[in-house]
Amino acid sequence: MAIARVHLDASKCVTSGQCVLTAPEVFDQREEDGVGMVLTDTPAPELLDRVREAAAGCPAAAIRLLHQPSARVAGG
Ligand code: SF4
Repeated sequence: MAIARVHLDASKCVTSGQCVLTAPEVFDQREEDGVGMVLTDTPAPELLDRVREAAAGCPAAAIRLLHQPSARVAGG
């Protein structure tokens, strides 16, 4: 089972706000300069399709969805 983790590279962001329109549960923009930020970097599975959509629609290609193996449960 992999954990999906959202990464937003603020240095690439061009403050278009597309990600916030696509997945407002996951993304927001900083009040002071409009740079995108991630509200929850491990969103619920049902939000992942829209995170992928936001990543695909980001004009700066600043959003990535990374998959990491979940931590092994001891004694399982
Ligand atoms: S869609 Fe991309 S460029 Fe636009 S605010 Fe979000 S991260 Fe920044």
